[in-house]
Amino acid sequence: MAIYLNGQFMPIEEAKISVLDRGFIFGDGVYEVIPVYSRRAFRLEEHLRRLQHSLDGIQLANPHSRAEWAAIITELITRNSGEDQYLYLHITRGAAKRDHAFPKPPVAPTVFMMSSPLPAPPTELLHGGIACITAQDNRWLRCDIKAIALLPNVLLRQMAVEAGCAETILLRAGSKNEVAFLTEGAASNIFVVKSGTLLAPPKDNLMLPGITYDVILELAAANNIPHEVRRITAAEVFAADELLLTSSTKEVLPITRLDGKPVGDGKPGAVFAKLHRLYQDFKRDVMRNNQETGDGIQGGRLG
Ligand code: PLP
Repeated sequence: MAIYLNGQFMPIEEAKISVLDRGFIFGDGVYEVIPVYSRRAFRLEEHLRRLQHSLDGIQLANPHSRAEWAAIITELITRNSGEDQYLYLHITRGAAKRDHAFPKPPVAPTVFMMSSPLPAPPTELLHGGIACITAQDNRWLRCDIKAIALLPNVLLRQMAVEAGCAETILLRAGSKNEVAFLTEGAASNIFVVKSGTLLAPPKDNLMLPGITYDVILELAAANNIPHEVRRITAAEVFAADELLLTSSTKEVLPITRLDGKPVGDGKPGAVFAKLHRLYQDFKRDVMRNNQETGDGIQGGRLG
């Protein structure tokens, strides 16, 4: 497997970084995960825009222009096999004497990228759905930054694994008396379907603005699926007809069990089936037309 590290491509076994790297010491960095279909990065512009938002959020200068990122990404895809891959892109504030405050003057950031095979989600999950648990969202207040410091997400996902489930759905309450509301999954976004309407939590500081989340809402808008973006209470999550999970590597999956109970009738629902089909068509359409960035759906290509 070829990886990219600080200007060079090399086998992963040869990649080395300093133990003083602030990513290692403090988790001081940000990342992106970019799916590649038919050897083309999907929604590249959107991923690079979110990367810039994350970098701005931690006051770290972007080490590369858009054209430089595109060139590195193209080269990494070329050096790895597989039509469908996912790229992991990681930038830290670099290696410096251990001190919480930023190094002064700044040091060179560490830039790392690797590619892994991207298998299509298993059909048994599409037909049977996945099981999830809920837990209190105990993360910080800048979940819009795709930070490499993922310890809360790691612990929350592990809770799901130990319960024999695929994901932990996070419910947050700002204070003791506040009604808990849906934020997202430990490593995914979550949608609720009620009476045929797709409900999505608003993109604010309490959730990662998912690239797949945007695609799903664009597809809903272009195909007359009723949808609302608003705060969703925990009670609405538990009373959902359908629950959907989205992420760049999982695309869109139906959640059919929550905390050990069936969601709706316990089977993947009609809104999932429609959105899954639209997502597959959209992916194919984007790749066939060589439009690696997926320049929006509203233009009517799928309308
Ligand atoms: N929320 C969290 C916390 C994530 O880690 C992820 C991605 O893994 C997502 C949401 C989904 O984002 P995307 O659709 O861009 O993969």
